[in-house]
Amino acid sequence: MERIYIGMGSNLADPAEQLRSAIEALAQLPQSALVGVSAFYQSDSLLPGQPRYTNAVAALDSTLAPLALLDALQAIENGQGRERLERWGPRTLDLDILLFGDRLIDEPRLKVPHYHMQERAFVLYPLAELAPAALHLADGRCLKDLLAACPFVGLERLSED
Ligand code: ATP
Ligand code: MG
Ligand code: MG
Repeated sequence: MERIYIGMGSNLADPAEQLRSAIEALAQLPQSALVGVSAFYQSDSLLPGQPRYTNAVAALDSTLAPLALLDALQAIENGQGRERLERWGPRTLDLDILLFGDRLIDEPRLKVPHYHMQERAFVLYPLAELAPAALHLADGRCLKDLLAACPFVGLERLSED
């Protein structure tokens, strides 16, 4: 059993509802248990001219292999109407594997820890609600240090409803 953190994002077709559907789908994954979900956040799009994103992070315990989990996450994305038209284009659902136990993964289809997480407040702040600040990533970096270097900018934590 390994602890996996999954970053979720949506900026199309009722983003909060997209995340709620994704959370239900994560809870149904085989060989897995959903152990936590952060609050929802809103963030500015990385590219100008797109609607704001709704983001959250989920924690999963699983015995799935990393590529099997990636396949399952992509199936959930596709099931919720994800279209891949342009890189970083608007999307109904993005599910990214942030951390997978203490594994370092460098395969063509899967890089873990997620290679952009250190720059993304919309990943780090929800992750910090679920993971201990002292958490060390597989590459030795500490979550607390990543947070300290990543200002809480362009981000809004939504109150639970
Ligand atoms: P970004 O990676 O910058 O967040 P994105 O999430 O929009 O961009 P996608 O179109 O969702 O990118 O995915 C592109 C490819 O990234 C996927 O087909 C997948 O194989 C690959 N990938 C590599 N590492 C990961 C990871 N840790 N989690 C999810 N996908 C990954
Ligand atoms: Mg992404
Ligand atoms: Mg993605």
